[in-house]
Amino acid sequence: MTIFSKIINREIKADIVYEDDLCLAFHDVNPQAPVHVLLIPKKPIESLDAFDDSDAMLAGHLLLKVPQIAATLDLADGYRTIINTGHNGGQTVFHLHIHIMGGRSLTWPPG
Ligand code: AMP
Repeated sequence: MTIFSKIINREIKADIVYEDDLCLAFHDVNPQAPVHVLLIPKKPIESLDAFDDSDAMLAGHLLLKVPQIAATLDLADGYRTIINTGHNGGQTVFHLHIHIMGGRSLTWPPG
């Protein structure tokens, strides 16, 4: 079980900004921008690589929630979404998550 499953189960506290039957969004504990929220499916999918065709509805749901959640976070000037996948992608928690970051002008490319 990952730390994100514990957040879903309320075994660990998080600063939750959105929740529905399929997903949960909460502030990153180590923010890399003034706004840094993580959106996760409640289903414990390890990474983007573990998505399969049966997750099509869930995948669409997550993506559609991003702008709706961003609209509640004062990100009208724009924001970045990131999904780190696997070791080289920089993934450290193996429960799929979408980073939603903003509140300042972000540089490109990432390191
Ligand atoms: P990644 O490197 O893409 O796997 O991102 C994992 C993210 O989870 C990092 O930005 C961490 O700061 C964040 N994180 C780890 N533990 C917690 C926690 N308990 N609550 C909120 N965010 C967390």
